[in-house]
Amino acid sequence: MKLNDKLHSTTLRFTLLPSPSAIYHFLLISIVTALQGCAFFTPGPLTASLEKNCVLPADQTNTISGRWTNYPVPIAFFSGSFSGSETGAIIKAADTWNSFFQSSQGLQMVMNYGTSSSPTQSPIADPTTGGSTCSQGITTGTSYKGNVVLYKLSRWPQTYSATAIALTTFCTLPAKPYSKFYMAVIEFNYQTFFASGQRQPDLESIILHEFGHMIGLNHSCENVDRAGVPNCNNSSINPDYLTASMFPVFSFDQTGAGEVRNQLNSNDQGRANCIYQSSSASPTPTSSLAPAQAPKSSLTP
Ligand SMILES: [Zn+2]
Repeated sequence: MKLNDKLHSTTLRFTLLPSPSAIYHFLLISIVTALQGCAFFTPGPLTASLEKNCVLPADQTNTISGRWTNYPVPIAFFSGSFSGSETGAIIKAADTWNSFFQSSQGLQMVMNYGTSSSPTQSPIADPTTGGSTCSQGITTGTSYKGNVVLYKLSRWPQTYSATAIALTTFCTLPAKPYSKFYMAVIEFNYQTFFASGQRQPDLESIILHEFGHMIGLNHSCENVDRAGVPNCNNSSINPDYLTASMFPVFSFDQTGAGEVRNQLNSNDQGRANCIYQSSSASPTPTSSLAPAQAPKSSLTP
């Protein structure tokens, strides 16, 4: 990261803020045979029993990346990009999270996409292509005043993992106990997935997972050893981690149809409660507040 001098003099306030950073989350895929040892079984029906408590198992203590402090978080679709059925699938996933938080924490809404008949649109081009996501912003000079925009990419950047179906990038400011989010971009790989002739992920399942990143959840496990993060390949891993929406890998059958994992299991729910339990966050009626200023004061990733 290097300091962007042009943005350095925005306000005095910003000079007191810790440096923001961009954090990337790839959603990886695998053909069933590609990863050995990482379970690819078909999850049973998830008759999602409701978990109302914060449940953060000892081996998952480092699986939360941050949180929004103002919500509902406004999310928008890049204008004219998503079909009706794609929009519907994405809204369904947002509703799954919203319904969960309403039931578990009494929060009226965590993600605000507008209405299903008139979902919020944003005309602002994908800021990640400019290479300075967090400082470029997604709200300047438009009518959209929100914090998150979804993009379909027909050309998936070479700097991204080639096996990623989608990518959530979010911008954070250091805070306790969790970093504070002020902006996020969610990109879908419509080059090597989704497109005609390519493998077809279940969009609702994919965006449910990406929304999990957007609200602050890391993967339920990773394919590496890291303190406070379970290793997906550990044979004694809690099976809930493997059926979670936040399990990092989605498989495909031989026809190219993607795995459906469109429910939040107890592990997703328990961890999410830790981020947004009523005592740890401050809901506000709208979120067009301070975070909109933050990108101007950020460093270049
Ligand atoms: Zn992911």
